[in-house]
Amino acid sequence: MKIYADNAATTEMSKAALDTMVYYLTNVYGNPSSLYTIGQKAKEELENARYDIASVLNAEPREIIFTSGGSEADNQALLSAAEIGKKKGKTHIISTTFEHHAVLHSLKRLEKQGFEVTLLPMHENGIVRPEELEAAIREDTCLVTVMAANNEIGTIQPIAEIGRICRDHGVLFHTDAVQAVGHIPIDVKAMNIDLLSASAHKFHGPKGTGFLYARKGVALTNLIEGGAQERGKRAGTENLAGIMSMAAALKETSAAMEKNSEKMSAVRDYLIKGLSEIPHCALNGDAKMRLPGNVNFSFEGIEGESLLILLDQKGISASSGSACTSGALDPSHVLLAIGRIHDVAHGSLRLTIGENATVEEADYIIESVKEIVAHLRSFSPVWRDLTEGKREYILP
Ligand SMILES: *Cc1c(COP(=O)(O)O)cnc(C)c1O
Repeated sequence: MKIYADNAATTEMSKAALDTMVYYLTNVYGNPSSLYTIGQKAKEELENARYDIASVLNAEPREIIFTSGGSEADNQALLSAAEIGKKKGKTHIISTTFEHHAVLHSLKRLEKQGFEVTLLPMHENGIVRPEELEAAIREDTCLVTVMAANNEIGTIQPIAEIGRICRDHGVLFHTDAVQAVGHIPIDVKAMNIDLLSASAHKFHGPKGTGFLYARKGVALTNLIEGGAQERGKRAGTENLAGIMSMAAALKETSAAMEKNSEKMSAVRDYLIKGLSEIPHCALNGDAKMRLPGNVNFSFEGIEGESLLILLDQKGISASSGSACTSGALDPSHVLLAIGRIHDVAHGSLRLTIGENATVEEADYIIESVKEIVAHLRSFSPVWRDLTEGKREYILP
């Protein structure tokens, strides 16, 4: 059996997205800035895509800026909000310890430029507490940036509540919604969102394409100097085929969201129930407030990397709780943020299922994980110490 269970890393392009991409690459290759017919056709289609994407989020078309993906959108959002704040003498930013690195590293850069950053500590359930966020807001706070749904543990944040608090205090609110758009409902007006990042390859569109929503009146800083594309906010000839494909993918996933979400949540809960039977393991992140496709477990006494390699040999593509940074395996900052200690975080597994996942596939995954965890524990010195009582179990 071949099972792709790493949809938080990237998704397979849908047929509609792929067909759209090929069609535009083949037939509408004009430069949208050109004045002749095929250029103007490209320009017209670009604006149609902007309209379609805006409609899904309840935004205005002019509030959508196309980017090269989620990372660029995050960078542009944070830089823009910081610049706006600086002009008003406000240089304090609030975020969380479990954001994506595109946000965390942008914050590091801003700190070097004199901004002060408060990272709200995360709680075990992986959900931000709005009252703690409100308490952290100061006179000089210019921006709050909190992701809509976490890419590792899948927890869904109280975005509407955070948005209302920020609006009440006159603070800009950015959300990295890369894992949310196309998967859970987002309404930028109802949720009082000022800036939002999204990426096509996380909802069955192509890689290298994304967008930034910026509410009318929020001035954007230009990351790329050059031509007047995207109202002068993002120079460079538009990736028309990618953008059209992204719009097609978003329309499709959004239209099927409710139905898919129900189906996926059922398989997700089945997986969680099955994997919970493994002794000394724990689900990471809240069981209910999580993305329909996300399952994340820590297993005591094993290495997540070994688990991944053996799962791969059984045809299952998944992800672990470690990231290779500068040649060393570091436990995930998200798992550390929710209080998992290093050893436990290292023994973690993220499964992010797709819309077509079945119970039969879930059964195969559960059987495979059970077998591999038992196998890895059979020669793990840590596990031996635990079973011999030389160490205390951390997970029940
Ligand atoms: C994937 C991801 C990004 C980065 O998006 P790219 O399009 O790959 O640059 C940012 N934030 C989150 C939460 C993500 O999951």
